Formats: sequence, structure tokens, C-alpha cells
Amino acid sequence: MAQNYYDILGVDKNASADDIKSAYRKLAKKYHPDLNKDNPEAATKFKEINEAYEVLSDSQKRSNYDQYGSADGPNPNDFFGGNQGGGGFGFNFGDIFGDIFGGFGGGSAKTANAVQGHDINVKVNLTFEEAAKGVKRDITYMCTQECTECNGTGAKGGTEYTTCPDCQGTGRVRYARDTVFGRMVNESICKNCNGTGKAIKERCGTCGGAGVKRSQRSTTINIPAGIDDGQTVVARGYGEAGIRGGPAGDLLITVNIAKHQLLKRDGFDVLLDVPVPFTIAMFGGKVIIPSLEGKLELNIPENTQPGTVLKLKGKGIKQLNRSGYGDMLITVKVELPKVNGRAKKDIQLSLEEQFPLDKFDKFNNYNKSVKSL
Ligand SMILES: [Zn+2]
Ligand SMILES: [Zn+2]
Repeated sequence: MAQNYYDILGVDKNASADDIKSAYRKLAKKYHPDLNKDNPEAATKFKEINEAYEVLSDSQKRSNYDQYGSADGPNPNDFFGGNQGGGGFGFNFGDIFGDIFGGFGGGSAKTANAVQGHDINVKVNLTFEEAAKGVKRDITYMCTQECTECNGTGAKGGTEYTTCPDCQGTGRVRYARDTVFGRMVNESICKNCNGTGKAIKERCGTCGGAGVKRSQRSTTINIPAGIDDGQTVVARGYGEAGIRGGPAGDLLITVNIAKHQLLKRDGFDVLLDVPVPFTIAMFGGKVIIPSLEGKLELNIPENTQPGTVLKLKGKGIKQLNRSGYGDMLITVKVELPKVNGRAKKDIQLSLEEQFPLDKFDKFNNYNKSVKSL
């Protein structure tokens, strides 16, 4: 590498990612070929700036560059081994494969072609109260985990392996093909070692060389108070084992909340329709209602109209990942008694005497607005 990427961008070796980005933007604008049509050197400079940025903006490539003076990690030609005869195809492999090689850096066999394991989705059923208050749940599921016997290497005792001779430990091989467009060079996962970069001498007896084992796994998950139907809790690293030394996937727990017999939910508020005898609605009194805290005594003020919403502040659901609580909103449903028999006529006469119909303002106004037929 003749040029120093840091010098090209005019930044310090310890420059932050933001510094690098900002330096690149400034220079790219300055040397953009469209803005420098009469300056042929600008195009070259612009290319250099982009090349430098491509490497320094990628933490893996940058670390390789710092360590080895190349974004590709150790001398890229080492990767070809004897198989392909080095750079014999007339390509500048450093340029063509810069991206690919940047991905697995220093050629470490442990992380060669490492891929994160898959996520696992599970569903849990919660009661209304469990979702409102939070709950711990033991979740049992099938999952691949790194074989502890061989530390995920697949080799007996975790040590019975050598560097794969086909790919020299990179886990990848390249091959050339003649096509109508000329000679093409492709790269793929090494079949001999399945991309691990390791050739197993003797397989691990526990996992049969796979490095992972599928088995039942149990874990206790903290489901936070306030979670709503359909929401998902993520348990990082509790998913399928990583591939070739990659990190494990996640366990995604989606909750399904059962309907409550009486309570409903609106965000973090709890809604309840409460039947109130007409005498209590008229004269005031107490009714017993269900709540998240069990039975509660609710005060009904006198002259409460049907449909009135009474609010119990802070008696709702705990707000998810916050400290506050929702409210409980109780809608009064006034219940009228059914009267039959002899009492009926007496009660009617007595009530109509007490509450003559023409005393109902709304009723009067309504009647006035209706034309006679
Ligand atoms: Zn291999
Ligand atoms: Zn094993």
C-alpha cells in the first residue's frame, strides 16, 4: 500500500468514525468530478478519497488496515495457497475481493465465516392480570446449542483438528471459470471444512462433528408489567447457536393476552362497565367492583346519570418500561328494576307524582320541536 488512507482523508490515526465521515464528505464535495471538469487530477484524487473512506469507514477493514497495512488482512495472496496459483488470472485481487475479505479479517479460524444463529419465535399465553403486573415465565423450547464437549469445534476434545488444507483456514475457496465475458473468478464456502477453516482429525463423539447439538432448553423470562397483546420480549443470545463461531440468535417471546371476564384495556387504562341500581344512581351509595388489586369499593355520587365515567387515578396498568400507571375508567350503567303485579301501579303513580314528566327539561324541549301530525 503506497498511500496512507489517513493522510488521504487528512485525519488522525485515532480519528473517530464521525471525524472520518465528516472529512470524507468535505473532500468528496471538493474533488467531485462534476465540480472539477477542468481539473483532471481531481478525478484521481476523488477515487483515492473514496478508496480510503471505504476502508476506514468499515471497522473490520480499518482494523485490518491498521494491523496489516491492508483492508484484506494478512497478505491476500496467502489465501490462495497452492490451489489457484496466486494472482495468475491477471486480476488485482486486492481490489476485487477487498469487500469479501474485509468480512472475515485476520483469517482467524475461530471466526472465519462466522454467522449469527437464527432467532427462535415462541408464543406465551398470559392472563390479563399477568400482562398488567408482569410475570416470570419458564419457557421450554428446542434449540441448538454449542456442544460443550468440543467447544463447538466438532473435533474430539475440542483439539483434534488442523488447518484445512483446501482453504488454508479461511473457510473459503476461489475458482476460475471461462465464460463468454471472459474468465470469472468466484468464491464460495470451502466444502472440505464447511467454512470453518478447520479439518477435523477425529470427530467429537457428542455432536458427531457438527459442533452444535439440538436439545430442549429451559429459561426463565421476565415479562415486564404493561406488555400488550402481540408485543414481543427479546432474550438476546437465547436463540439457535451461531454458525462457525458466530454469536447465538435471539429468543423472541410474543405474548398473547387472554380476555378478562369484566375488565378491558385501552393502552394502560383499565375500562369497566359497572351496573348500578337506579336507587344508588339517584341517591348515591357504594358498589363493589373488580380491579387489578382485587375487589374495590366504588363511591357513586348522588344524581349520577347513566353513562357517567368515573375515574380512579393510578389504578390502571403499569406503563411499560416506565414508572407511571394508567387510570381505571368506570362507566356507570344504570339498571332499572322490573316491576310487576300490584305494586306496579302504585309505584308508577307515586313516581309520576314525585317526578312529573313535564319537569324533564330535555323532554319538554324535544316535544316542542316535534310537529303534530
Ligand atoms: Zn476449508
Ligand atoms: Zn461436540
